[in-house]
Amino acid sequence: MEKKLKWTEPDQWGYYGEFGGSYISEMLYPNVEELRQHYVEILKDPSFISEFQLLLRDYAGRPTPLFYAERLSDKYKSQIYLKREDLCHTGAHKINNTIGQILMAIRRGKKRIIAETGAGQHGVATATVCALKGLECIVYMGEKDIERQAPNVARMKMMGAVVIPAVSGSKTLKDATNEAIRDWINHPEDTHYIIGSVVGPHPYPDMVARFQSVISEEMKKQLEEHTGRTIPHRVIACVGGGSNAAGAFYHFLENEEVELIAVEAAGEGVDSGKSAATTALGKSGVLHGSKSLVMQTDDGQVVEPHSISAGLDYPGIGPLHADLFKRGRAKFMNATDEDALKAAFELSRLEGIIPALESAHALSVLGKIGLKPEETTVVCLSGRGDKDLATYMKNMDLK
Ligand SMILES: *Cc1c(COP(=O)(O)O)cnc(C)c1O
Repeated sequence: MEKKLKWTEPDQWGYYGEFGGSYISEMLYPNVEELRQHYVEILKDPSFISEFQLLLRDYAGRPTPLFYAERLSDKYKSQIYLKREDLCHTGAHKINNTIGQILMAIRRGKKRIIAETGAGQHGVATATVCALKGLECIVYMGEKDIERQAPNVARMKMMGAVVIPAVSGSKTLKDATNEAIRDWINHPEDTHYIIGSVVGPHPYPDMVARFQSVISEEMKKQLEEHTGRTIPHRVIACVGGGSNAAGAFYHFLENEEVELIAVEAAGEGVDSGKSAATTALGKSGVLHGSKSLVMQTDDGQVVEPHSISAGLDYPGIGPLHADLFKRGRAKFMNATDEDALKAAFELSRLEGIIPALESAHALSVLGKIGLKPEETTVVCLSGRGDKDLATYMKNMDLK
């Protein structure tokens, strides 16, 4: 491994090793550059910090518990803890980031918020904070996804957001992202674009990782209460774009004693052609404004990903993760749709917690990594399974 000062800190151009940067059209440059120049200073402002922390506590419901999963631990003959992001307001870790970004937008005098969403989870988390702060909210969503995700569309509308269908291309997330970027170019002055994961042009990956880092900050204190040590042996998290994993790894990245395991979605199998296992299949390329690992054809066309869980159905990963993969700081594994379903049924019956399908990918590797009895492992339970009930109902025979 080549020497590097800090895993969590990109250079001034937003590069984590060879990945990151800001690959954007000239029209967007002033917008993104303005954010780049101010975000660190705003993040360090004591009044920003106290407002962020108050909302995390009283609105999102933090700190989320670190739960010792006794029956799961018995089954795997080890010490397993769950970081309960599923208990956050709106049901997942995404709210940590949208709260941070809405406060950032307000500090910078923005009146109008835009976002893109695939399954609607990030759209809902964005609509939520816009209602909270009384800002105009426009969410771009593929026409196909609008049909498939009616409950989330209803939630967004109920909270006052305008949902605009993306009708070009495959009418899914990628097309919604293009529409959002087009909107941003046309409204550079008054609009902030809330990106939902550690992806996009610099400074988004770093900014989102910092907002989500509250996850591992809390874990350290809670681990000390439970075990007398502030570090676990390992942390496991699922990776779509990589925001819950970035948050769960953040404060352990510099301590190489802590093993970090990122789990991607293998869909129907890594070699099935229906997968979202970016590190297994991807090559270096530019996607959504930064250089990272991207699933693509030989001539550079982005491949349509597949996963049973909408949150992991993304053909890239954030640049921080691409760097952790490339230089071996984190171990990347993957889980199939079926592995995830089985893990979701297992957790439900052993602990009375129905996880999101995304989080179930992280749980599914517990039986594959040779846990020792004295080791402590924290699994980031990124979200709750209510949204996935229809999928679980279709697969009850798998349990
Ligand atoms: C969106 C989502 C994910 C994937 O996003 P990351 O940025 O990789 O964290 C994982 N789990 C849940 C519950 C989600 O809603």
